[in-house]
Amino acid sequence: MKSMDEIATPRRTKEIIARHGFSFKKSLGQNFLIDQNILHKIVDAANLDENKGALEIGPGIGALTEKLAQAAKKVTAVEIDQRLIPILREVLEPYPNIYLHHGDVLKTDLPALFKENFSDIDQVSVVANLPYYVTTPILMKLLEEKLPIDNIVVMIQKEVAERMAASPGTKDYGTLSIAVQYYSEPELVCIVPHTVFIPQPNVESAVIRLKVREKPPVEVTSEKHFFEVVHASFAQRRKTIANNLKSRFFTKENKDELEPLLIKAGIEPTRRGETLSIEEYARLSAVLLEAGIGTE
Ligand code: SAM
Repeated sequence: MKSMDEIATPRRTKEIIARHGFSFKKSLGQNFLIDQNILHKIVDAANLDENKGALEIGPGIGALTEKLAQAAKKVTAVEIDQRLIPILREVLEPYPNIYLHHGDVLKTDLPALFKENFSDIDQVSVVANLPYYVTTPILMKLLEEKLPIDNIVVMIQKEVAERMAASPGTKDYGTLSIAVQYYSEPELVCIVPHTVFIPQPNVESAVIRLKVREKPPVEVTSEKHFFEVVHASFAQRRKTIANNLKSRFFTKENKDELEPLLIKAGIEPTRRGETLSIEEYARLSAVLLEAGIGTE
């Protein structure tokens, strides 16, 4: 396709929107991409080829969808806004390898969608300019459902991307960093200026790539218990790990049992939750679980 025909140019985007009388809904995180360079950067980061599949969440008017259809064998795009479906059908008409699904991705049966659309495909990437109001629930759903996904390349709020990729001991490191890094290896691809969107969001943006792990980096007996311990340890960032865990799991009567357990796990009780690595949380969860502290 010639570049003047492509969807993501300011001129063509404005023309499509005006012709369909479309108005942006802030509540659905509708900030559309109008920059060819950034679209190419996103698609390149996903490493697609003619044998691979792409799942897009929130195709908008199809700017990224078009690029994905040119780079992958098949694209499945899930869009919540019914008003965009006829627009997408029109602008994406030249691409028979795109399947549109109208619905809320958070309520969509993704394993069934994968079975229906990607059963003949070995490697699938999720590629999206995500609606920022639901970034975390969408990414956690994709990771927790353990779908056959190789990598996830998404535009998200810069601050959230930094939290996902943060290392222990930094101010950005928290429950989100641990949850994302348990399932994937995050890598910041680029920081993105406001000017590539219409309308422009009032937060900074970044593209992040999550390489989905075949198995978690640590072995845990119970994921539920592991994440319960992580959440409890960050309940109040300024408290020590011992104080946070006491408030969550212990009573006045048995609180003295905690320190020996922390020592057994190799963790100094005066440390703060934000200094512990995933490996240390796994060890701590194992010791607490063995002592019957926490769920299961
Ligand atoms: N991909 C387009 C682009 O880059 O120009 C649009 C991206 S815009 C940031 C987010 C899109 O996600 C919008 O089209 C919005 O309607 C859609 N959306 C919002 N919430 C959604 C949800 N829960 N499920 C599916 N799509 C959603």
